[in-house]
Amino acid sequence: MSKTGASQENLSTADVEISELIEADLNRQNTHIHLIASENFASKAVMEASGSVLTNKYSEGVPGRRYYEGCEIIDQIEQLAIDRACNLFNAEHANVQPHSGSSANMAAYLALIKPGDTVLGMSLDQGGHLTHGSPVNFSGQVYNFVGYGLDPETELINMENVYEMAIEHKPKLIVAGYSSYSQPLDFKRFKEIADEVGAKFMVDAAHFIGLVAGKVLDNPVEYADVVTATTHKALRGPRGGLILCKEEYAKDIDKYTFPGAQGGPLNNQIAAKAVCFKEALTEEFQQYSQQIVNNAIALSDSFKEQGLRVVSGGTTNHIVLVDTRSVDDDLTGKEAGILLNSIGITLNRNAIPFDPRSPFITSGIRMGTPGVTTCGMKEEELRKVGFFITEILKNRSDEKKLQNLENEVKVLAKSFQPYG
Ligand SMILES: *Cc1c(COP(=O)(O)O)cnc(C)c1O
Repeated sequence: MSKTGASQENLSTADVEISELIEADLNRQNTHIHLIASENFASKAVMEASGSVLTNKYSEGVPGRRYYEGCEIIDQIEQLAIDRACNLFNAEHANVQPHSGSSANMAAYLALIKPGDTVLGMSLDQGGHLTHGSPVNFSGQVYNFVGYGLDPETELINMENVYEMAIEHKPKLIVAGYSSYSQPLDFKRFKEIADEVGAKFMVDAAHFIGLVAGKVLDNPVEYADVVTATTHKALRGPRGGLILCKEEYAKDIDKYTFPGAQGGPLNNQIAAKAVCFKEALTEEFQQYSQQIVNNAIALSDSFKEQGLRVVSGGTTNHIVLVDTRSVDDDLTGKEAGILLNSIGITLNRNAIPFDPRSPFITSGIRMGTPGVTTCGMKEEELRKVGFFITEILKNRSDEKKLQNLENEVKVLAKSFQPYG
């Protein structure tokens, strides 16, 4: 057995190159401090389901209505996943087949609107996602997206501005949801605005669905016609997507997932999603979710105490976005991200609101606490991590200081390994 919990007994002889590279990435995962906000560490139980014989089965269709024979067991597995998802999120209907968050969004758009329709979503450069209308993504090519942003003063979503844009553009769909925003969304107000302009309302909860499962953030299912999500971010499951919706949209969501957006479901991933939902239904997962937020606040406070500027005034979820210009004017997100990774802290550069630099360079670094919280870190460690990051960035031309900091980062990472 490899330390991953997955047997490499066969792989290590059948394909030495890949086997060794998997071990090398396991080593990377175990020796760095991981702050990429969209990543987490799945349990060994989830990975065993994901690596199972279920990868062998075709099962186009939905439980009880398949285009292939031999789906009796798959039906039970997918139904369990669906029932657990509905139970976890108090949803009327769930589709657990989307291969990813992007596939889930594609199926949802196909089900809710027509090509060419206007959609109001969060601007990419202010925290939205590629699938919210980027010109390089299908969403931007097929639909007419218009974007709301943040208030330049508060760096918060201004619902008055969302309302004005909705009145002006008369969208057929309003999308709430983000990839980098650290403050609450007012689902109730979004829904009122959508109702007033005759738009449907979708929440892309890909980033924060884990915190909804853990009951520390409001549940968008109550307000939205359709909620899309991923299962591999804060929810800590296998890589994959998920759609939750009102009964009214159930048929269309199923139809536009398959055959609309995808072919055969990934049954190994669906089984792993079922395991993840079971884990998320526990009291322990609720404590975990609360700790994710407590840890993000501790990290954010640590930056503020050291004079760094945290975007949107701090955090109320798992995300902390720091303006690298508050270290010094020359420091870019790109330089900060590369340097920190070389010292053992993995995170990503990210545009900040009204960023004067290009999306490839940026003036921000984005961090998230789901991964380090899975590894057992608490507020005390996150304050330490905030201290290390600030010291590394402030002393980036002092080789000796960086060497000492690297040693300290290594010691901390070693005590909090995901698969130690
Ligand atoms: C991560 C994310 C997605 C896409 O998920 P993938 O599984 O990478 O396709 C969609 N929307 C939002 C808001 C996200 O954060």
